[in-house]
Amino acid sequence: MEKRKRIVILGAGESGTGSAILAKQQGFDVFVSDSGKINPKYKEMLNDHQILYEGNGHTERQILNADEIIKSPGIPESAPIMRSIRKKGLYVISEIEFAGRYTRAKKICVTGSNGKTTTTSLIHHMLRKAGLNIGIAGNVGRSFALQVAEEDYDYYVLELSSFQLDGMYEFKADIAILLNITADHMDRYDYNMQNYVDSKFRITQNLTEEDYFVFCSDDEITVKELEKIVSRAVQLPYAYEKKEDDVAWVDKQEKMRIEFDDVDFSMSVHELSMKGRHNTYNSMAAGIAGNVLKIRNDVIREALMDFQGIEHRLEQLNKVHGIYFINDSKATNVNSTWYALESISGGIVWIAGGVDKGNNYAELYDLVANKVRAIVCLGKDNQRLVDAFSDKVETIVETSAMAEAVKSAYYLASKDDTVLLSPACASFDLFESYEDRGRKFKEAVREL
Ligand code: ADP
Repeated sequence: MEKRKRIVILGAGESGTGSAILAKQQGFDVFVSDSGKINPKYKEMLNDHQILYEGNGHTERQILNADEIIKSPGIPESAPIMRSIRKKGLYVISEIEFAGRYTRAKKICVTGSNGKTTTTSLIHHMLRKAGLNIGIAGNVGRSFALQVAEEDYDYYVLELSSFQLDGMYEFKADIAILLNITADHMDRYDYNMQNYVDSKFRITQNLTEEDYFVFCSDDEITVKELEKIVSRAVQLPYAYEKKEDDVAWVDKQEKMRIEFDDVDFSMSVHELSMKGRHNTYNSMAAGIAGNVLKIRNDVIREALMDFQGIEHRLEQLNKVHGIYFINDSKATNVNSTWYALESISGGIVWIAGGVDKGNNYAELYDLVANKVRAIVCLGKDNQRLVDAFSDKVETIVETSAMAEAVKSAYYLASKDDTVLLSPACASFDLFESYEDRGRKFKEAVREL
């Protein structure tokens, strides 16, 4: 009997466990290894499928005998086990690459530095409304691999981070969407921006003339990179103000327009359920995808009008004594905070801070000078924020707990102002995650 191909999976989280179940189903010899503690939920799933695994460390001899490795996107190349694997020259792929081999579903793939989850969820909402049999995966919800093993979808919309794209070679999208590129995760890319750009552009690899590449032509880095590469796919650029080739834009009457082939779509930007310029971009990208898939105009319009948005992304809370509160805890970099500040009209009391990943705050100076009445710093170390903004606003207060930050912001705000939590920083100094930070913000607002 021929020896079964051995697949070793590094990381027993959502993507690793899903990959293991799919690999087992496909008849491979499967082993899962995690350097840390494995969540009981995943242990149970692995046990149920009689898959061998280890936690709290990697046994090299059980790993280096693999024919192929599936690596969780969270594991950096600098991890000791990865060095051994690279030394041996083993083939390493991501969960998405692996699962892509076992489905014939059409794949709409979304990447970018900001807006992936929002746009992926919006497209999912739209295509479900249109009655398509569609799954959502990638960084959101259940893993792609698990769904390929257990479901029978005709379409998938996939959110792809650069780490997932790094392990993708043969995978092909049917519609590839690149939202934007701004510096992020530089620590994983040797502090070389081009490495990160190359990673994002992997979303275009293998596209044929029957496929589509949707991108934002206002994004300078994307446009510059496109001059260097040849893509056979149909190019569908969008922009705020129409340039020659753009197929979606906002016109002088503030209508979002989409026009290509026989598509002719228009709706007022004021009807879009998600506010802010960045969300208009996201709506354009989703609207283009909908039109490529020949979804009816009225369904696209309705989806863009009634999409509920997602928690922690410019999430509007209840007004308290005439003051608005917005939870944008997911804004963990300067660029997403820029869009949050831009999207709000009227005075803002801005709650910011946390783990600063080397932020350049200069991009925010104009917006802060024009709109922000006061800054409430919320972090263990607020010095960088204080240094950056002390001559830009009259009031800066330092806090180190959510309830204290929310109370201070509330007292500093006047009627019709907005208290905005949009930290521009990671959350790990005071909170477990950005979700934890957002939830604590909402609790504190409720208790006012
Ligand atoms: P991602 O999944 O790429 O991290 P999210 O959809 O979770 O993106 O949004 C992350 C943050 O970025 C939120 O604060 C959101 O308001 C902001 N954001 C959403 N779309 C965009 C965009 N197109 N450009 C810039 N910022 C955006």
